[in-house]
Amino acid sequence: MSNTALLIVDALNDFFSKGSLPVPRAEEVIPPLNDVIVLARQKSWPRIPIRDWHPRTSSHFKPFGGEWNIHCVQNTHGAEFHPNLNLGPDCFIVSKGTRFGEQGYSGFEGTLSDGTLLGVFLKQVGITRVLIGGLATDYCVKATVLDALKHKLETIVLIDACRAVDVNPGDGDRAILEMKKAGAIISTTGEIIKLNS
Ligand SMILES: [Zn+2]
Repeated sequence: MSNTALLIVDALNDFFSKGSLPVPRAEEVIPPLNDVIVLARQKSWPRIPIRDWHPRTSSHFKPFGGEWNIHCVQNTHGAEFHPNLNLGPDCFIVSKGTRFGEQGYSGFEGTLSDGTLLGVFLKQVGITRVLIGGLATDYCVKATVLDALKHKLETIVLIDACRAVDVNPGDGDRAILEMKKAGAIISTTGEIIKLNS
């Protein structure tokens, strides 16, 4: 297995325009994500879609004292991957925020179906470089990127494949700066495809 993995963060129905917690312009991440998925399949890079997979009652949700509308509840349409995302077979799905008290911002809090933590899995299969795109820049992408760096992984943010919530104007831009300062490489899917073909 190659040393690179593709991490796709929260490309789930509830974060798109018809969902319960839409990220502005979220649909725009689908074409670049599909492009980089094609590359990952050509290169046999593990494709790791990371999903919010919340219980119906979660301290993450407003009715239970949390910050957010109810979203991505386990086994509902909102928690499914966007239908236009061409993930292909044999992906390694990581689920996060799966218990009442878990916020699940970072993919590194999540586990594969057999319970292996994402960071442990990446180490097991010899991954040293991760490409990260998805939703949202200022929350789960940022948290996942910062944790990837803590795991000493070369971390590339696919900037055209991310969109921000921007609860406060400029949050997305500040998140990009923070990721950069922490050591992340900011790139585009086009650049990555060019460099690897
Ligand atoms: Zn969530």
